[in-house]
Amino acid sequence: MKTIYLDNNATTQVAPEVLEAMIPYLHELYGNPSSMHSFGGQVASVLRRARESVAHLVGADPEEILFTSCGTESDNTAILSALSIYPEKRHIVTTRVEHPAVKVLCEHLQERGCVVTELPVDSEGRLDMERYESALSKDTAIVSMMWANNETGVMFPVEEAARLARERGILFHTDAVQAVGKIPINMKSNSIDMLSLSGHKLHAPKGVGVLYVRKGTKFSPFLIGGHQEKGRRGGTENTAGIIALGKACELAAKNMERENTTVKRLRDKLEESLLNVIPNSKVNGDRSMRLPNTTNISFEFVEGEGILLLLDQFGICASSGSACTSGSLQPSHVLRAMGVPFTMAHGSVRFSLSVYNTEEEIDFVIEKLPSIIARLREMSPYWKAESSVCGIRDTDTQ
Ligand code: PLP
Repeated sequence: MKTIYLDNNATTQVAPEVLEAMIPYLHELYGNPSSMHSFGGQVASVLRRARESVAHLVGADPEEILFTSCGTESDNTAILSALSIYPEKRHIVTTRVEHPAVKVLCEHLQERGCVVTELPVDSEGRLDMERYESALSKDTAIVSMMWANNETGVMFPVEEAARLARERGILFHTDAVQAVGKIPINMKSNSIDMLSLSGHKLHAPKGVGVLYVRKGTKFSPFLIGGHQEKGRRGGTENTAGIIALGKACELAAKNMERENTTVKRLRDKLEESLLNVIPNSKVNGDRSMRLPNTTNISFEFVEGEGILLLLDQFGICASSGSACTSGSLQPSHVLRAMGVPFTMAHGSVRFSLSVYNTEEEIDFVIEKLPSIIARLREMSPYWKAESSVCGIRDTDTQ
C-alpha cells in the first residue's frame, strides 16, 4: 500500500538530494572539522558552505547561525540565555499556544521563580497586540512567540511584536520551526534577536537545528564545553546533519514559490472539498494568516484518533493535535486556548502537506474521508441526537 504522507508538520521526508549530499560525511569523509589535518579541514570548509546556505534562506549573516541538535534545543537555549544575561529580570512573555519546547520550559522556569505571562488567543488563534504591549515591562527578560503554529498553521505578527519589544530594549525570540522554508523570512528587515529552526521540518534529517542569534545580541551558551560554534555551543558538530541542512535550505529557497502555489492550492482543494461534503465540519484557526501547507479541521461528534486509525488503513498519515500531545485524552492545548468546543476539539485532524504531495493523493483523501466520518458518526450517540434534532443527513457523505 502506498503511503500518503500528510503529516509534514510532525516531520518531513529527507529529500533525495539532501540524502545524497550527506552520505559521504557519514562514511568516507568522517574527519572532525576541528582537527588540524586537512582530512578534517575539508569537512570544515563544507560546513562553512552549509552555514552560508542556511543564512541565505533566512537573510542572515553566516556568523549569526549557530548549529544545535534540534528546535527544542534552540528554543531552550534562547530563553535560558536571556535569563542568564539579565539575572535581575525574571519575567518572560509568551503565548498560550506555544510548542512544548517553549511552553513546558516556561512552566518549569515558573516553578523556579520566574514570572511568565502567557498571552491568550481569540477563537481564530490570533493575538491581541494591545494586550501584548501592555504585558511588556522593565522586568521582561525575553519575549518568546512562535512565528507559525504547528497545529493550526496560524501565523503571529512576530515582526511587529519584535519591533515593539526592541523599542523597550527587550530581547525577542521566535520559534520559527514551522515557518522556515514555507514562507519568506528576511532577518535583515526585522528586529527579531533570536530565531529557532529545525532540520527535520524542511526535508533534512532529525537531529540538527539552528539558533539564529543577531550580531551584537548578548548571549550565554546552553551547552558548555569545547570551542565549537565560536564557543557558543560546545560539542563536536553533527557534520552530516549540518551538511544535509545546508542542502535542504538551498532546496527550500528554490521551492518557496511552490509552497505558495502548488502546495497551497492542494491544501485549499482538500479543505474546501471536505468542508463542502462533510456536515458539521469547520477549519480551526484564521484562514487568512496561515501557513500555506496546513489545515486543521474539526469533524463534530467524532474522535480524532478514530479518524486517524481509519485513515491509516488506507495508508493516509495525518495527525490529531500535535504529534507530541497525541496519546493524551485531553484535546490539544492550542484548541483549548482558542475555546474550540469540546465536541469539535476532540474531532480535529491536522493535515500538513509538502512539495512531495500530488493531486492524486489529495483526491484519494477527498474520496475516502467522508465515508470514514459517516461510519464513525453512526456509532456516536451524540451525533444521532444532533442529527435527529437538526435534521442533518450524513448519507451524502457515504
Ligand atoms: N517548535 C515547533 C513549532 C515545532 O513544531 C516543533 C516540532 O514539532 C518544535 C519546536 C521542536 O522541534 P524539534 O523536534 O526539532 O525539537
